[in-house]
Order: sequence, then C-alpha cells, then structure tokens
Amino acid sequence: MGRFWRWVGLSGAIALLILWLTAPASPAAKLPEPRSHPLPAALQQLTAPMPVGQAASDSPEDYFDAIEPTPVGALVWSRFPVTVAIQDNDDSQWRQSVRGAIADWAVYFPLVEAADPDTADIVVMRSRPPRTIRIDREQRRLIIPDAQHGQARYTFYLERHPPPHLAHRFTLYLNPDQPPHRIQGTARHELGHALGLWGHSPNPNDALYPSQVSDPPPISRRDLRTLRRVYQAPTRLGWPIQP
Ligand SMILES: [Zn+2]
Repeated sequence: MGRFWRWVGLSGAIALLILWLTAPASPAAKLPEPRSHPLPAALQQLTAPMPVGQAASDSPEDYFDAIEPTPVGALVWSRFPVTVAIQDNDDSQWRQSVRGAIADWAVYFPLVEAADPDTADIVVMRSRPPRTIRIDREQRRLIIPDAQHGQARYTFYLERHPPPHLAHRFTLYLNPDQPPHRIQGTARHELGHALGLWGHSPNPNDALYPSQVSDPPPISRRDLRTLRRVYQAPTRLGWPIQP
C-alpha cells in the first residue's frame, strides 16, 4: 500500500460511507460514537513469547503514530475468527504462500481460511494490483503509478445480522509474478493492513515496512505492539446502530 493507494482506498471508503448514509433504506440510522472493543484474548497475551529469530536488541517500541486515521476510527475486527478466502483456481504455489502468511498471523491473531469469498472478511486475489491513473491538470499529464507487488483496499457495508452494525471488508491483490517467499512476505504485509495496521513502519525489520526487501521480515515485536494499540483505539465499526 503506497501513499497514493492509501488515498484511493480511503476516498473509495468515504464515498461508500456517504452512499450508505444517504441511502433511502436507512434514512434515520446514526453512526455509533467511537468506542474501543474488548482487546482480543490473543493480543492480551503478547508479552511473550515474541517471534523467533529476532535480535535481543530489537526495539520494543511501536509505530502506532504512523497508523493513518480513517472515517470510522480504528480499522479493527470485533467478530472472531476473522475469515480469509483465497481466490485461485488451483492448488498452486501461490496459494501455499498465502496460506503460509495466514499461518504466520494466526499465531498471534484469530485468523482462519474460509471457502466462500462472498462471506469472507478478507478476500485475497491472485492478481496484479490495479493501477489507477491520476490526472495532473496543471501540468496536463497523466501520472501512472509504479506496478506494485501487493495492495489492500477496504470498503464499509451495513451488516444487518442482529444487531445491525457498520462492518468492513478487505480485498488484497497479490501479484503472482514473484518468487514464493516474496509472495508470502507480500501477503504477510497486506494481511497486516487488513488486520488493522493501516500505515507503514519506518523499520525494515518489520512486516509492515513499505518497500520489499530481499528477505521479507517475519512479524515483529513492533508489528504486534502496534496492532495491540490499534485494538485499544476507538472505532465506530462493530457497534450496534440505533435506528
Ligand atoms: Zn503497505
């Protein structure tokens, strides 16, 4: 997720939110006030052990300050386990790499693979991330972003299962034209966005570092500490909507 893609994702999300708010089906629905949900049990137990292979000098800090605001507050899940559907036609190496990344996060977070992409919280597409061309009116030119290895986008929707609440869903695009260990690293990174890390770490040893490195890092102590702080932050997602 580059800065431009974050903007695209955010603007898309805002557009959808406005659409929903003005939809005639629920003219009087009010968004709930932002509140934090109870911390998931898996994130409560993050004091130890931490990921294998990290240096003892690993900084215990987080990069919570780099998490971007969204129109609803923290992008957290409140119904568990969170489900991931993988869109692929065969039992490919690509699919195995994505499964590896799901297993990496599942150590620390209630995350499971699901078969049905229509009902999954997160859908992973075997596809080059779409490139959106921007128009620079002053210079009268097109700005074409670089091709990306992966991209995360979210949308909001009204979940009507009682109690009705504002929910979100993620779509991840993972370019299949990468070696398997890179695909797993990209999937780990994009899944981190989908779990709530809507921003990037400045540290190349973190899974949420924005540039691809030759040997993709595992989920780090900072990634997990940041995720825990995100799950302590207020959100409008998941709380009952009063008609
Ligand atoms: Zn990213």
